[in-house]
Amino acid sequence: MKRIVVSAIAQQESAFSERLIDWQKQHGRHQLPWQQTRDAYRIWLSEIMLQQTQVTTVIPYYHRFLQQFPDVRALAAAPVDQVMSQWAGLGYYTRARNLHRCAQAIVQQHGGVFPVDVESLAALPGIGLSTAAAITAFAYGTRAAILDGNVKRVLCRAFGIEGFPGQPAVERQLWQLAASLLPEQDIEAYTQGLMDLGATLCTRTRPRCETCPMQARCIAHETNRTSELPMRRPKKATPEKRSYCWSNDRR
Ligand code: SF4
Repeated sequence: MKRIVVSAIAQQESAFSERLIDWQKQHGRHQLPWQQTRDAYRIWLSEIMLQQTQVTTVIPYYHRFLQQFPDVRALAAAPVDQVMSQWAGLGYYTRARNLHRCAQAIVQQHGGVFPVDVESLAALPGIGLSTAAAITAFAYGTRAAILDGNVKRVLCRAFGIEGFPGQPAVERQLWQLAASLLPEQDIEAYTQGLMDLGATLCTRTRPRCETCPMQARCIAHETNRTSELPMRRPKKATPEKRSYCWSNDRR
C-alpha cells in the first residue's frame, strides 16, 4: 500500500514538471532582457534586481546598469557611490551594497568567474540558496531547486501544503518538495516556468486557474482553497492577564 502511495506521489511530481516545462515553452516569458544569455553576470544582476521589484520597473535599471558596468570586473572596480547612484530609485539599497561587495569577492576570490556550484555562490554577499540555484540553472544548466515567495505559493497551492511557509518545518517540507520536482532535463525552462507561473497565473490574489497547466491536479483549485493557501502567519495569541484579589474576609 505504502509503495502505491509513493509511486502516485512520484507520478504527480513528474507530471508537474513535464506540464510546467511544456507550458513554459509555449506560453512563458522568453523575451526578457536577461534571457537568451548564459552570462552569469547578467543573470545574477537581474536576479538581484528582481528580488522585491517588478519586472517592468527593473528593465530600464538593468539596461542602464549594464551600460555603466558591463562586467563583474567593472562593477568591482567602481566606487560604491557610483553603484548606489545607478541603483537610486530601485529601493532596498542593501541589495546594491551587497551587489558591489559580491562583485569584489568574485574578482578577488574566484578570479572574476561566478562559481558553478550552488553552495559557493550562496556563500557570497546578497545571494541566498534560491537565487544561487536560479543563477546556476540559467548560466550553467545546474539542476538546483529555487524557492522564493512566488514558488512557495505555487507549491503550497498545487500540492495542498498546509501551514505557514515561514515556519521552519513547512519551509523544510517545501525545499524537499522543490528538490524532488526537479526534472532530469530542461532545467532552464522548468526554473523559468516556476517563475512565470507564480508571476503571471498563480498570483497572490485572483489566480487565473482557468488557464493554468496545473488546473487538473491542483489541490487548492480542486478543493476551492486558493484564497486559503498558502496559509497566513498564525496570529500570536493575545496574552491573557489574570488578576487575583485576595480578601481577608472569611465567609
Ligand atoms: S490551478 Fe490555480 S491555484 Fe493551482 S497552481 Fe494553477 S493558478 Fe495556482
